[in-house]
Amino acid sequence: MSSFHDLLMTWPAERRRAVVESISTDQVQRALHKDSLSPTDFLALLSPCAAEHLEAIAQRAHALTLQYFGHAVNLFTPLYISDVCTTQCRYCGFNARNQQKRTHLSPEAAAAEAKLLHDQGHRHLLLLTGDAPKLSSPAYLGEVVERIKPLFASVGIEVYALTEEEYAMLVAKGVDSMTMFQETYDPALYAWLHPVGPKHDYRFRLDAPQRAAKAGMRSVGVGALLGLTPFEQDTFATGLHAWWLERNYPGVDIGLSIPRICPHEGSFEVQHAVDDRHFVQYVMALRCFLPRCSITCSTRESAVMRDHLIPLGVTRVSAGVSTAVGGRATQEASPTGQFEITDHRSLPEMIAAIRAIGYQAVIKDWEDPTASSAATACA
Ligand code: SF4
Repeated sequence: MSSFHDLLMTWPAERRRAVVESISTDQVQRALHKDSLSPTDFLALLSPCAAEHLEAIAQRAHALTLQYFGHAVNLFTPLYISDVCTTQCRYCGFNARNQQKRTHLSPEAAAAEAKLLHDQGHRHLLLLTGDAPKLSSPAYLGEVVERIKPLFASVGIEVYALTEEEYAMLVAKGVDSMTMFQETYDPALYAWLHPVGPKHDYRFRLDAPQRAAKAGMRSVGVGALLGLTPFEQDTFATGLHAWWLERNYPGVDIGLSIPRICPHEGSFEVQHAVDDRHFVQYVMALRCFLPRCSITCSTRESAVMRDHLIPLGVTRVSAGVSTAVGGRATQEASPTGQFEITDHRSLPEMIAAIRAIGYQAVIKDWEDPTASSAATACA
């Protein structure tokens, strides 16, 4: 099996640009009537030409979302357990150069925070750390997971890139999903944005979702940070990455996340901000290209935007979010979060909002057959 990197290399900027510039209305219409879209069809739906057909794309995206997911919308909540970071991503508030109080929760403190989220009704939890592989080591993550797994049906991770053996160890402890943001698929820009630290290794990060799939992860997610490159560039590469994973690992649930860059403390200037119209076009194009993939929309987006994206393709949303470490059940806490969130709704408020638009809020859609789970369904 060739690698995703090999596939990505067959789509250099000149080829992408040439395809985008040649897209006609006919090609957009044809893509909307196909059962299975090619990468070129996906690019057609991302093109400026497709922007003139948003209503038709919306209808197709809506129909496919209903066909594959019904009215179900899955809920999860993130738990940041460490904001210690050795990397200097130029766009991030946790950047190692930012002088701020850092918090690294002990496994006991992380478990206390998680218990509180469990008591609020959450059953799908996503653990997050900064890039500090020595302090927030795989062994540390494993210890946290061991403590909290009995409380949650699903425990996911969104941490630095791990080896296949490390992913396998965490799967054995009870982790069932991982998300890896490539941030940008442009290697030169990637190198500039991540000048030092473990994250500097573009290829190691790019291949992390594949390693996780090989290690037995039930669900693997990818995403780019929208706003770093011209619109069609990273959106296309992200869809292509999910498409490649889906074809090569048919037993793994492949998901996509769609974060748009947020303001943070620091001075990063967003060069290619994605406006709302392009953002919606991206979600709909993803749904048409990858009808079976989950699409996650975080609280970076407003309540209005998140609610409107559900009928168009979003199938997974977070609730009761804080991007700061600690402070719920423990005294230890960082004063600021990784980024400013826009949608502050609690779990009950999210459930009510999802029901109000005619959809079903799903607290739990998975039972780990090996776990003696106290994570009972409660929606
Ligand atoms: S994006 Fe992640 S790795 Fe980069 S500075 Fe922020 S927390 Fe650290």
